Amino acid sequence: MEVLVASSAEEVCELLTQDHRRQLLAGGTDFMVEVNYRHRSPSSVIAIDRVPELRNWRHDGDSVLIGSCVTYREIERGPLATLVPALAQAARTVGSPQIRNAGTIGGNIGTASPAGDMIPVLSALGATISLRSSEGKREVSLEDLIIGVKKTSLRESEFIESIRVPVLEGPQEFLKVGSRSAMVISVTSLAFITYPKTQSVGIGLGAVNPTPTRARRAEEFIHDYLDWEKMAVDPSVLVRFKELVSDASSPIDDHRSVASYRRHSVGVLAQRALTRVFSEGEFNV
Ligand SMILES: Cc1cc2nc3c(=O)[nH]c(=O)nc-3n(C[C@H](O)[C@H](O)[C@H](O)COP(=O)(O)OP(=O)(O)OC[C@H]3O[C@@H](n4cnc5c(N)ncnc54)[C@H](O)[C@@H]3O)c2cc1C
Repeated sequence: MEVLVASSAEEVCELLTQDHRRQLLAGGTDFMVEVNYRHRSPSSVIAIDRVPELRNWRHDGDSVLIGSCVTYREIERGPLATLVPALAQAARTVGSPQIRNAGTIGGNIGTASPAGDMIPVLSALGATISLRSSEGKREVSLEDLIIGVKKTSLRESEFIESIRVPVLEGPQEFLKVGSRSAMVISVTSLAFITYPKTQSVGIGLGAVNPTPTRARRAEEFIHDYLDWEKMAVDPSVLVRFKELVSDASSPIDDHRSVASYRRHSVGVLAQRALTRVFSEGEFNV
């Protein structure tokens, strides 16, 4: 296997243009598992984890631009964690410290697994993904990029350059259910982001649909029952809210869990996130 070590994003473009069958290796925490199980046998690999532009992030006004090779280690603490706490909460639940030192946000998107822990957060944040190739750059939403289980709409010789998300505006939550409390792939997960300026919430669901999903009907429904001054929610609507979130899921049975439990638990996570952020007030609308 030929291993080419890229030192700039421009070089990644050139190496892919020379041969679009070359495969990208970031932290290798998904890639090498597939190689080891012989599900994948690349003849040429481009290591991108030393490309400075891809390893950096910057605070840019109301948003943060995160290079695709930024690792969980960097996301889970420090200034980035202060700017986007839900992303940090999710990063802290990924694998072990060794996996978090190597694994990257771009790799999580590139794998396009429904259980990827960055996915619900990026979805609830309405992330914009910048893609690059020698043809130029383009921006897409996560929903337009991940189009099936482990399937993306990346074009030939195109790669994920960076991810743009809004900085913290109000409370954020990430919650995850797994078969144990650490080092576990999600059975279900959920991100709950508040946007006080528009008095709205974003709810991203994980591991319950083949592609990134927002619980849009639940987001719209709860809008009328939130008191943003008191940060309170009308308790009489919690059950309906939970049902609407569960209704946004179409989970499957697999070796990690069964569809009925996933459907139930994603609703419970939503209700829990909502009541952590908004206390249960007494008002009835
Ligand atoms: C023990 C273990 C535990 C794990 N636990 C979790 C967990 O709790 N939660 C979770 O979500 N994941 C988990 N994972 C999966 C994995 O760590 C993550 O998905 C990680 O984010 C992958 O990133 P990476 O940099 O290692 O990607 P790689 O393995 O290098 O690449 C993954 C895929 O993305 C492509 N790719 C990488 N970068 C780019 C790019 N910039 N542009 C286009 N394509 C790209 C690669 O070609 C490859 O197809 C675990 C893995 C292991 C081995």
